Amino acid sequence: MGRPDVQYLDNPLIRRMPMPIPVHACQCPECLQSTDHPNWPLHHQMNLLLSRLNEQQRRWFVALESNKIGHGGDTLLAHITGMDVETIRRGRRELDAELANQPVDRVRQAGGGRPSAEKKIPRSRPR
Ligand SMILES: [Zn+2]
Repeated sequence: MGRPDVQYLDNPLIRRMPMPIPVHACQCPECLQSTDHPNWPLHHQMNLLLSRLNEQQRRWFVALESNKIGHGGDTLLAHITGMDVETIRRGRRELDAELANQPVDRVRQAGGGRPSAEKKIPRSRPR
């Protein structure tokens, strides 16, 4: 389960190559019926945003969206995002617990850490 592409991000050689990030296509009943449905752009943007978040951020964001819906939220969000219902429940429990014991640092965040090369100032200039 999860995103098999993430493991490649640990390899600095592969990480430099631009890689298309897959965006989940919403599988909710309304969007399956027609992409003309007014919810489709919202669900698409939700999945677009999720594609750029790390694992725990994805879980908490989807948990929050599920809390907004209330009853039936976990199932609907599972259809929209492709995330497992149990994962969404776990995210809601973590939110309910004020994210206690959740790491604050940027765990498993791709590209975190070193500054990008273009920010560096060249040491020697041609005169
Ligand atoms: Zn949808």
